Amino acid sequence: MQLLRSGISLRIHAIFISHVHGDHLFGLFGLLSTFGMMGRKDKLTIYAPAQLQDILNDHLKYFGEGMTFPLAVHAINTEAPEQIYENDDITVHTIPLKHRIPTSGFLFREKMPLRNLHSRLIAKYNLPPQAMVKLKNGENITLPNGDILENETVTYLPYYPRSYAYCSDTLFSEQVIEQVKNVDLLYHEATFLTDKMEVAHQTMHSTAAEAATVAREANVKHLLIGHFSSRYKCDELFLQEAQPVFPHTAIAKELATFEIPLIPLKPT
Ligand SMILES: [Zn+2]
Repeated sequence: MQLLRSGISLRIHAIFISHVHGDHLFGLFGLLSTFGMMGRKDKLTIYAPAQLQDILNDHLKYFGEGMTFPLAVHAINTEAPEQIYENDDITVHTIPLKHRIPTSGFLFREKMPLRNLHSRLIAKYNLPPQAMVKLKNGENITLPNGDILENETVTYLPYYPRSYAYCSDTLFSEQVIEQVKNVDLLYHEATFLTDKMEVAHQTMHSTAAEAATVAREANVKHLLIGHFSSRYKCDELFLQEAQPVFPHTAIAKELATFEIPLIPLKPT
């Protein structure tokens, strides 16, 4: 229902699930049912820890009658980072997390774009089309007189590829810091405040200060925090704890959109 309200297209072909705790999973069953009622035909792949397969098998035993489309579960390794998905535009890697059951975050990266050519320089060298394709792919080329034409001198990146890391649920983890270095946007859970540090660690969750520390140490551009425990009555408390550690922190509110702007680079 929230997905329909969000206006996001339902032409989804991949779903990434971090772990099989109910608050990260229950929405899936309604979504599968909606897809069935819409008469979906396209294959859907769910990337999730292996336990999801059993849960889905049980679910489909009772509620699978209206399934109109192929459904596959790709069991992910939650112990070591690996690339699990790729299309023309992006790659997705797992981020092993430390929680009470096998859990993985996800790192979404845009692929490096083809390089743009400086048109005045290209005209100067009078290059054939094959050479231009090589240059766009970032390669150097050899000119007819044997000189090497260095890629950087005649091309430039049209924009920096963008990145987004999703980390929920987890204890504070140095390994996560390593993996999310310099991402444009990091979502990191912050279930508790420092006043409940002990409960946070027992239940294998993070505090707002710990989430902000991950963001600061990883030098990310923006941090989103969420997954707040209902024992706190005011979300602002989480911002008040996180922002002194990492100022570019915002709260992940339901149905809010956070855009990572694509910044065009000018030829130099
Ligand atoms: Zn959990």
